[in-house]
This record gives sequence, structure tokens and C-alpha cells, in this order.
Amino acid sequence: MSDRASATDAEGDPTGSVGSRNTSGTTDDTDPFMSVRNLRTYYDERTVLSRDPPVKAVDGVSFDVYDGETLGLVGESGCGKTTLGRTLVGLESATGGTVEAEGTDVTNLSGNEQREWQRRVGMVFQDPEESLNDRQTVGESIREPLDAHDWPFLPVAVEGLPDATVSGKAVTAADSVGNGDSATNGETDGRTDITVRVDPADHEVSVREKLPLSRDDVEVSVDRDSATVSVTVEKSKREIRRDRVFDLLDRVGLNEEHYYRYPHQFSGGQRQRVGIARALALEPEFLVLDEPVSALDVSVQARIINLLEEIQDELGLTYLFIAHDLAVVRHIADRVAVMYLGSIAELGPAESVYTDPSHPYTLSLLSAIPGSGSPWSGERVQLRGTPPSPRDPPEGCPFATRCPAKIRPDDPDLDEETWRALDELRVVFRTRSRAEFSTLETIKGLVGAEVDPESVEEAVDDLLGDRNLPSDARETVDEAVDLAVHGNDDEAAALLRDAFGSRCDEEHPEAYQRGEGWQSRCLRHEAEYRDAPETIDTRERGDGF
Ligand code: SF4
Repeated sequence: MSDRASATDAEGDPTGSVGSRNTSGTTDDTDPFMSVRNLRTYYDERTVLSRDPPVKAVDGVSFDVYDGETLGLVGESGCGKTTLGRTLVGLESATGGTVEAEGTDVTNLSGNEQREWQRRVGMVFQDPEESLNDRQTVGESIREPLDAHDWPFLPVAVEGLPDATVSGKAVTAADSVGNGDSATNGETDGRTDITVRVDPADHEVSVREKLPLSRDDVEVSVDRDSATVSVTVEKSKREIRRDRVFDLLDRVGLNEEHYYRYPHQFSGGQRQRVGIARALALEPEFLVLDEPVSALDVSVQARIINLLEEIQDELGLTYLFIAHDLAVVRHIADRVAVMYLGSIAELGPAESVYTDPSHPYTLSLLSAIPGSGSPWSGERVQLRGTPPSPRDPPEGCPFATRCPAKIRPDDPDLDEETWRALDELRVVFRTRSRAEFSTLETIKGLVGAEVDPESVEEAVDDLLGDRNLPSDARETVDEAVDLAVHGNDDEAAALLRDAFGSRCDEEHPEAYQRGEGWQSRCLRHEAEYRDAPETIDTRERGDGF
């Protein structure tokens, strides 16, 4: 069990360890591809008429992504997974924090730098039906990012002729696309497409392997006296792009004739293949795969997962794989991050997190995996209710309103069901004070739809009516109800928190190291507490706390 000294700061290095993935899913000492620090993405919809606080979809997450790894991102729907993925690739604006790649914060890029980052990253969307334009042929869809970025860039490097000037048309004038582009000596996207090696007697030309361009398509003449290299590509950008699309279709298991078909002529699995081809078009290094198989038949899911793994191996890609299906993530991920209400609850090597979950939320998710695939040997851990609104997350641990292992005060001496009822009553008051939901909706969200209270008194009756509260505790509850009845819901909630709350209601836990590259944000990792699995097990058996 870790103690407090091993915790890392939320603003510091909360990533567990630093380095690139090795085969055990842990890390070596190298720089990550991407470092995310205290990232926040809020949706502020306040208007003159509405003063609702912003939706905190991503609320202070920090982690690293290493070259060539697959980082799984799991959690219930609405926890912020998709928003996080979209923020990393620049499809959403970050409200705060940083996403650093090679020392540059990519959340604030503009102009060419932004376009270059957009080229280096891509996204495969959940619903292939929605992500493709039905009025575009499949070929046009895959080609669209190539057109938008005016791909290929055709930078030319010259070796063996110092200070050479590169001139000439890299694209033939016969075509309307890319007409007149001058070849430049240097790299425009970190890569060189054409390399000219000059020696005193001759010169050699090579073309980057992954381009649909052969050596025969490139005309080069060298004038050593004037140190000038003239390059002409005898193939238009339009042709290169079309051939690139053919290559991509082939790579994802489709063929050239599919170029001219429309998305509605394809099955779900084929459409997802098109989505993958489109995401690969600009030769990205990093892909966010947002539930890429969730909308597909089970029989098709395995084929798409295999395809993604093959492509990753072949192209050396780095993946963020978002899913709510934990079994799928276990299969593909090297490391896994568990997200709850905009925060990362646990992050570590997939095998460690799956076989020995540390955080109560991870445990509850894993216990819900049906059959022998579940690593949890006890009963299924049922979470009550739904996650709180991301407009108004709990003040302490984000999981405190539903946690089956929540730390309880020593006094008063209550059973776990009564503690939960008191928690729920506090949430009712707190939510009423935000006027976001009615009492009825809040209660239903917390304990299911069986109760139908119409007033504060009724809510108290439903939650605490037949429970044996010590007289002091009962007096406190009565006082809180009186405050709420007179419209002071905030004070009522604060009174209950002061009387019945614990550290879980006050502190957003730091990241506690659980092993190499493995961390969990739960106060139960401190030495003075019993750990979460044991606590849950004990409570399930009704043996106290
Ligand atoms: S800090 Fe408390 S509420 Fe949060 S996960 Fe741990 S035990 Fe549960």
C-alpha cells in the first residue's frame, strides 16, 4: 500500500513514469510523444437569460502518451472521453492547461503550425455512418484532407552540393492542381519527399518510399557551377492524390473500384474502413480512435481491431483508443486510463489495472464485465444512480457521491446504507440550490425511479424515514430540512457535509503511485486506510467498514 509521500501533485508530473512503452506496458526513459498537463475543456453556454455554470467536460487531466503505444481510455458515457480526444487533436479548444509535443504547446497554435499539427494527428469517429458525407464518393471523402492540405508537399533535399538552390516545377504545368509549385530545398513537414545526392561525376535521386511516386516520375538536372538543382515531377498532384487514395483503400482492405461508390453502398464495417483510410490520408503519427468498433456487429469488430493493430505495427502509429467496452480495450491497449467526470481516476499498464484494480471506480467497471473475463472475483459492484452533472461536480473526490468505498467518519456509528442515504440527501439539497433539477429528478437519478417525492419532507422520508439515527444525527437532519424548506438549500447541504462528510468530500485526491507507471487517485491508498477492494468486499458482506 502506498503512503502519502508517494503521491504526485495534480499540477506536477502525474503520469506515473516517464518514457516510451516497452513490452510490459511500462515505460523507458525517453521523451513522450505528447504530454498533457492539467488540461481543461469547458463548455460555457451562459447567456443573458441563462447563468448556468460551464460544463466541465475535461477537468484537469494530466498524462503522457508514448511513441508507438496504444493508450486505452475508458469510462461511462458522458465522462469526457470524447471531448478529451477531440481536444488533443485540436477539434475542441482547451480552456486551460497544455498539450505539449516536442516542447510546443499545441493548444494555442495558429497558421502553418496549426496545419502541421492537424496533419500529424487524426481521428476515427464512432459512427462511420455519421462521419462520412453521403454526397461524396468514398474516393472524394478520403481525398478531402489531401486537397485541404494541398498534399503532397514534395520538399526536396540536396546532398553533396553545399548551398544548392533548388528550382523547377515539382508538379507539371499540365494539370490544374498544384500547378507551378516550386520545389524547395528543405522539409515542410519534417520529411523529405525527394532526395538528390550529388557527387563530382553524377547525381542520384530517390523518392520517399510511402509516396505514390516513382523515380521515373522525377526529372532532375544539376548545374554544379551555379550550384543549382532543377526538379520537375512529371505527375500532377491530382494524380498523386488519387494514387494515394488507391493505396489507402488497399491498405484498409478495400479496392480501387470502391473509389467511385457512395457510403450508403457499404456495410458498417466497410464504412469504418473508409473512415480509417481518411484518418490515415495525411500520414499522421497519432490517431484518436473514438469507439471505433462500438457501432459494429461483434463479428466485424475483431476484423477492424486486427486491421488497426496491423496498421499501427506497419506505420509505427500511436493510438488513443477510447471505448466503454473494457474487454476490447484490454485486448488492444498497452496502458489504460480510467476516466470519471472529467478526471482520470486510474492510469497504468493494462495488465496491472485489469488484474489488480486500485481505484473503486475501476473496480466497479471491471466487476461489470460479464463471464470469466472479469478479473474481480467478488459480487458485481453496483454503483448507485448516475454521475453528477459536470456543470457542478462534487467539491472533493469526483467519485464521492457514488463510491462504494467512501471513507466514513468514526462518529456517529452508522451502517453503510444510512451513510449513503445521508449522502444522497446532501446531494438533493446541493442540486436544488443550483436549481438545475427538481427534487424529484434528483432523487430519481440517485436511487432509481421507485420513489416519487414531491417535497423536501417527502425526500427525507424516502431516504431516511425508517432508519435508526442517533438523536444528535436526527437533530442535524431536522435542522438541515428546516433550512431547505426555507429556501436555504446551500446551507442545508453544508450542514450535512460538516456533520456527516469525510475527507472524500473535501479533497480531490492526488495521484498515488501503485507501481511502475501506475497511479490511482483515491485517498484509500494512504496507509491509515483499508484499501478499496477490501473495503468494498467487507461492506458487501455487511461486516462494517
Ligand atoms: S477518495 Fe474516497 S470517494 Fe474518492 S474514490 Fe477514494 S474512497 Fe472513494
